[in-house]
Amino acid sequence: MVLLHIGIDDTDSARGGCTTYLAAMLVERLAGIVKFIDYPLLVRLNPNIPWKTRGNAAVCLRTEVSPCLIHKVKEETISTVEEHAEIGQPRTDPGIVFLEGEVPREATDYARNCVRDVVSKRNSMRLIRKMHAEAVGYGSGRGIIGALASVGNLLMEDHTYELLAYREPGNRGRPRRVDQASVFRMDESTRGRTFSNVDNERKRVLITPRGPDPILLGIRGETPADVKDAFRQVIVEEDVERWVVFRTNQGTDMHLPPDQEIASLRPYRPTTLLGIVTERPRETRGGHVFFRLGDRGEEVCCAAYEPSGRLRNVVRKLEVGDYIRVAGGVRPSRGRIPMTVNLERVEILNLAPKVAQGNPTCPNCNKRMESMGHMSGYRCKRCGLREAKAEPYVSTLSREIDLGVFLPPPRAQRHLTKPFSRYGLEKTYAMSAIEPFWGLGADVR
Ligand code: ATP
Repeated sequence: MVLLHIGIDDTDSARGGCTTYLAAMLVERLAGIVKFIDYPLLVRLNPNIPWKTRGNAAVCLRTEVSPCLIHKVKEETISTVEEHAEIGQPRTDPGIVFLEGEVPREATDYARNCVRDVVSKRNSMRLIRKMHAEAVGYGSGRGIIGALASVGNLLMEDHTYELLAYREPGNRGRPRRVDQASVFRMDESTRGRTFSNVDNERKRVLITPRGPDPILLGIRGETPADVKDAFRQVIVEEDVERWVVFRTNQGTDMHLPPDQEIASLRPYRPTTLLGIVTERPRETRGGHVFFRLGDRGEEVCCAAYEPSGRLRNVVRKLEVGDYIRVAGGVRPSRGRIPMTVNLERVEILNLAPKVAQGNPTCPNCNKRMESMGHMSGYRCKRCGLREAKAEPYVSTLSREIDLGVFLPPPRAQRHLTKPFSRYGLEKTYAMSAIEPFWGLGADVR
């Protein structure tokens, strides 16, 4: 038997389609001829890539195949992509990568870069040649970048699972019929085992996407058993065509690098910065909040945009001198707007004292005195008392924020953002027998 890794990316367009659905169909087609050695992987790549369609996802199927069937498996993969990818649509440039044998270190390094950096197709092709892998591209073939990234991403560190259920073709484009109350109940009963099911602030269900794609719902959780159990608890009022459990890097913060310096920031990368607030937050008409952060003599603009909801409540209360760690995507400068960190997470490490200063009060009439000029003392307008040595009063005001980590509400979190409910649940992956991970219809074993 030979190890064969199959990576696929960039098969969908804004009009529809979905790379995970294509993978789900390929799983069914390959089921009789390969042995799956891992769950299908759903790998989220750099979320700041400007040419992504939606969530910058790529998929990988890891298989063991008899040498005489390798050709058939590749043919089956190519024909599934050709039948179902939105080839010819703008910004749809599918890519497939086949790698035989163990995944080399260079591929895992490359994969990490694809989550945190911008990678060129030329470098991807160089690595493909070096590894004697094979690539198939359509359009510009840009999908090869993500396809190779999914092959290289072994997800041996923190990882999660997502059960995706797909709609019957006739229902696509229509409102999704999923009982909302049952989703809130499922969220309660699987707390700590699943995440990002609902946004309690807005009482909104998050497991059902919007738009014309074939996904009916997606439930994220810690183990395959958790997401399957959660799915059984949701009341679905339309036919389910198929379901698949993917292993993913969603909800792991994998995109966030260790602390960086402002001087090293580059556009379209995620970043983590440790610095001091150098300019008080100001709010613009659309409800976006901006402030400046500094480190080692450099400064950068940070933004909490309106969709980041309650994260703005914290950002609004920052003061000059606060010591914080921020994480987010770097947007390039545009016209008069400087390079900006689009905030996904704020950690307050130390709060600067907030002081109020004012003129002293008159000891005779208890009224505020007025200044007689710089270093010239104060005078009481009412009784005429002059105090050459009086000092302005200074009082320390209480800060209305606490130290700690702050995130946007679940509805505004990125796929890769680790939600609070996962803090402390991080785990590594140990290859072991895999449980049934796909099926046709709604019955989940
Ligand atoms: P969906 O979530 O619906 O699958 P998408 O948001 O994943 O869509 P794609 O249509 O796959 O978006 O487009 C992303 C494109 O960017 C792909 O061609 C992929 O190869 C490429 N890409 C992904 N990560 C990087 C990266 N780090 N550097 C350069 N290109 C990348």
